[in-house]
Amino acid sequence: MPDCIFCKIIKGEIPCTKVYEDAAVFGFLDIKPVNPGHTLVIPKKHYENIHETPDELLGKMAIVAKRIADAILKLGAKGINIGMNNGAVAGQSVFHAHIHVMPRYGKDSFSLWVGKEYDGSEREEVAGKIKNAL
Ligand code: 5GP
Ligand code: ZN
Repeated sequence: MPDCIFCKIIKGEIPCTKVYEDAAVFGFLDIKPVNPGHTLVIPKKHYENIHETPDELLGKMAIVAKRIADAILKLGAKGINIGMNNGAVAGQSVFHAHIHVMPRYGKDSFSLWVGKEYDGSEREEVAGKIKNAL
């Protein structure tokens, strides 16, 4: 994808700090990390998001994300958040699929969502709709 920043990183046209590479998957440090070591795991082939990424490749990315998370824990992180933003409304800003592996130490800029309450029968209705859509 010619205008994609991450495709350019894979081709070496934009510099990055690489931590992992195999035939299908690439891992490099996020330029604006939650904490040092925050890594992005991406497919070498361009897919926009989780929905477009073939299952087998997504599985390979998940395994690499876990290996990197294991390594970061060994280096002293207290926990790891693993996340993927899919769609602009979900916070995706680079439209080449990527898994964030984020080391956590306690006090940092990362914050989790505040949960809402379900209303009446809404929870069962939503679960039913999801089951039907699978
Ligand atoms: P998103 O918001 O799409 O889930 O995450 C995109 C991530 O890519 C952001 O955390 C951002 O800091 C990172 N990023 C954007 N441009 C570059 C870049 O040129 N190099 C690196 N290493 N990271 C980038
Ligand atoms: Zn791309």
